[in-house]
Amino acid sequence: MYPDYIIIGAGVIGLATAYELALAGASVTVVERGNAGSESSWAGSGILSVLPPWEYGDQVNALTQWSLELYPEWVERIRTESGFDPEYHVDGMLVMQQHDPKYDATKAQQWCQRYGVQMAQVSVRDIVPNAGLDSEAVWLPEVAQARNPCLLKALRGAVEKQGVRIIEQAEVTGFEVENGRMTSLQSSQGRLTAGNYIVTAGAWSSVMLGDLALQLRIKPIRGQIQLFKADPGLLGCVIRQDGIYLVPRHDGHILVGSTREDVGFDKSTTPEARTLFIERATEILPQLKEAELVRQWSGLRPGSPDNIPAIGRHPQVDNLYINSGHFRYGLTMAPASALLLGNILANRSQPIDINPYRWPQ
Ligand SMILES: Cc1cc2nc3c(=O)[nH]c(=O)nc-3n(C[C@H](O)[C@H](O)[C@H](O)COP(=O)(O)OP(=O)(O)OC[C@H]3O[C@@H](n4cnc5c(N)ncnc54)[C@H](O)[C@@H]3O)c2cc1C
Repeated sequence: MYPDYIIIGAGVIGLATAYELALAGASVTVVERGNAGSESSWAGSGILSVLPPWEYGDQVNALTQWSLELYPEWVERIRTESGFDPEYHVDGMLVMQQHDPKYDATKAQQWCQRYGVQMAQVSVRDIVPNAGLDSEAVWLPEVAQARNPCLLKALRGAVEKQGVRIIEQAEVTGFEVENGRMTSLQSSQGRLTAGNYIVTAGAWSSVMLGDLALQLRIKPIRGQIQLFKADPGLLGCVIRQDGIYLVPRHDGHILVGSTREDVGFDKSTTPEARTLFIERATEILPQLKEAELVRQWSGLRPGSPDNIPAIGRHPQVDNLYINSGHFRYGLTMAPASALLLGNILANRSQPIDINPYRWPQ
């Protein structure tokens, strides 16, 4: 007997989708080229917010705000089911935009009012007393973060608890389509068959689909991160200044990110990024000069036009679906994206307009 669904790609989107479908009673297999949760979803910073939200359109914010409503319960459920702590914490985010010509305080205020998001205009040192610069900033106390590897471990555990089969080291290399339906896919571990197929292959989604991608335009956008180890408590919240952010984990690690580079599928790191991160991070938080430089890494975001993911059915192949292209905000959007696709598959009503996420023809 073959499963109801095969999901291709075990990042946060593939695993969240598998979880949603399995909870609804479906049988699900996830096929992953490498190890589950080891690409972009592992490499990200774990900020559960758009950066900053008032600079993005409604299509990004509708999905994100819905996801953020789902997050506390979703994350608690995967924690309980898996027994692993995703390290989800509501620490707040401080946004310093004083050098950004696009910054408009009224726009930020209006956005927060519209979405019912708490905000305050503060001085940086009101919130981060040891900051290197003091200026006006926007304080968003409700912004949460999750620690990527921990979240993925918990999500995988919860997914497996629901009976989902995860096949690792299995690269999908082709598809068979007959009379408008997908009949099987080829993988490095042989041919696999299911009732329905869902592409969640992140930055690789368009390339993997080949002609079936139609007008889908998902491409890799590299992001580099620098990891510091400082004393726990040195920084208590996420802080973002003119495109660079610091994300403190509770054990004293601080992530500094990130670049946005259009360099294809190249995951190397560069000395230029390292220098930039050290300079900017120590300017924002001078005590980082004494911190240990632990590691630098990069990941490939699934870049999409305007940061809007594609979620839904293929225009020509009845049983082929996509949930991909979440670009900079896949960790944030994961619970709502999975539920949105689950609602489509179960023919349920949707709380937001789903037209912006349709597969482009
Ligand atoms: C530096 C950086 C910082 C980020 N910071 C944040 C943040 O703070 N907040 C936020 O919300 N988001 C952030 N993101 C974005 C977020 O990480 C991504 O949007 C999200 O991880 C995308 O998830 P995904 O599951 O689609 O992709 P991935 O995690 O890349 O998963 C796709 C999976 O598909 C597999 N795959 C590909 N091709 C095949 C194939 N042919 N066969 C089988 N499997 C295949 C891959 O191996 C991979 O495991 C950041 C990303 C980066 C790189």
